[in-house]
Amino acid sequence: MATKLITIDQDGSEQELRAVASALVQGALVGMPTETVYGLAGNALLPDTVRRIFAVKGRPQDNPLIVHLYDQSQLAQVAEQVPAEFYLLYEKFCPGPLTMVMTRSQVLPSEVSAGLDTVGIRFPAQRTARNLLRLAEVPVVAPSGNLSGRPSPTQAQHMLDDLDGKIEYILDDGPCALGVESTVLDLTVSPPQILRPGVITAELILERTGLTVHETSSAVSTKASLTVSPAEAKTEECSQHGSVIFTPRSPGQKYRHYAPQAPIFIARGRDSHEQITSLLSRIESETDKRLGFFGAEDTFDALRRRMSEMKGLPAVNIVTYLYPGSEQVETATHELFAAFRELDAAGVELILTPAFPRREFGIAYMDRLERAAESEEK
Ligand code: AMP
Ligand code: MG
Repeated sequence: MATKLITIDQDGSEQELRAVASALVQGALVGMPTETVYGLAGNALLPDTVRRIFAVKGRPQDNPLIVHLYDQSQLAQVAEQVPAEFYLLYEKFCPGPLTMVMTRSQVLPSEVSAGLDTVGIRFPAQRTARNLLRLAEVPVVAPSGNLSGRPSPTQAQHMLDDLDGKIEYILDDGPCALGVESTVLDLTVSPPQILRPGVITAELILERTGLTVHETSSAVSTKASLTVSPAEAKTEECSQHGSVIFTPRSPGQKYRHYAPQAPIFIARGRDSHEQITSLLSRIESETDKRLGFFGAEDTFDALRRRMSEMKGLPAVNIVTYLYPGSEQVETATHELFAAFRELDAAGVELILTPAFPRREFGIAYMDRLERAAESEEK
C-alpha cells in the first residue's frame, strides 16, 4: 500500500481532512499530529482496525491504547462511572496533554484496553487532531506512531521512516509542540495516581485544581515496574512459591521504551561544571568509539574547551545534535526523540547527554531519558 502524506496548510486543509476522516471511520489508519507526539489513529469501535494497529506497530498485546475524543460530549460512548475529578481536570487541562484512566464502556472492543476493565481517554489540543476528531465523530485510538521499541515520532518524517507503506495516511502539520507523551493519570484509585509522567505534573494539578494526586515512583525502571508495590498494583497473581507477582497498572511502563539503538550515558552533577567533568571521564574511557552528544551548544563548547586542555587525550570524533544557547529543559524535551533518531542514523555507539533537575518538564524528560538509558545503566 502507498502511504499518502498530506501537508496541512495554514488554513488547516479542511477539505482534505474531510476525506481522511471518512476513511478513518471506515477503518483506515492515519498518522495524526498531536501536541505531544504523532499518533497512529484508527476508529476505536472497529475490532479489526484496533488489531491492525497492534500488528503494524509490533505492539505487545497487553499494552492498552489511549482513546482520543473531540470533547466530553463523546465520553459516555467509552467510559462508565465517570468520577467527579474528571470534570475538574477536564475544565482546567482539556484539551491538552492529559490522559485520564476510567472504567471502560463495554461498547469498546476489549483489544483497546488490552483486556483491562479501564480505558485511558485524552482530548488532544493540536488543531489538526481536533479537526480530524471533530469530523470523524467516532472515538479514535491513537498510540504513538512509532514501531514498538523505537522513539516516539515528533515529526511526520519519523512516522514515514517507521510506517511507510503500512498505513493509509500521514498528516504532516510540522513538529509536535511538546515532544513527550501525555501524562497518564489513573482516576480509578483514590487519590488518583500518575502512571506515566508528562508535562502536566502533580504539582501543576494541585496548583490549578486543588486535587492531590500521587506521583509515579520516580524513575520507574523496567525492573521496578515489574515488581511494583501493592499500592501501585491492580491485579495480582500468586507465584508457585507463594510470593505475589504484581502486574503494573499501566502495562506500557514495563517495556523498554523511547530507546535509540545506541546506549546512553547521562552526565549527572550539581552543576554544568560537574556534568562536564563526568562527560570527560566517560569520553576518556571511550575514545575508540563513535560518540554522539545531545545537548545545548554552550555545553558542547565548554566540553570542547576542556577536552582541548586535557593532556594526552587522543582526537575524538563526536557527532552532535545541538540546540542553540544554554541547557533548556523545554527545548531538550522538544528535541529528545528527534535527537535519538538522528544520532542512531549517524551510527553512533554511545550517546552522551546531560541530566536535568526533576521538576516541572524535567520530571517527564528524565523519565524518558532514564528509560532509554536503562540497559546502559543496569
Ligand atoms: P502510547 O500510546 O504509546 O503513548 O502508550 C500509551 C500508554 O498509556 C501506555 O503506557 C499504556 O500502558 C498506557 N495506558 C493506556 N490505556 C491504559 C489503561 N486503561 N490503564 C493504564 N494505562 C493505560
Ligand atoms: Mg508509545
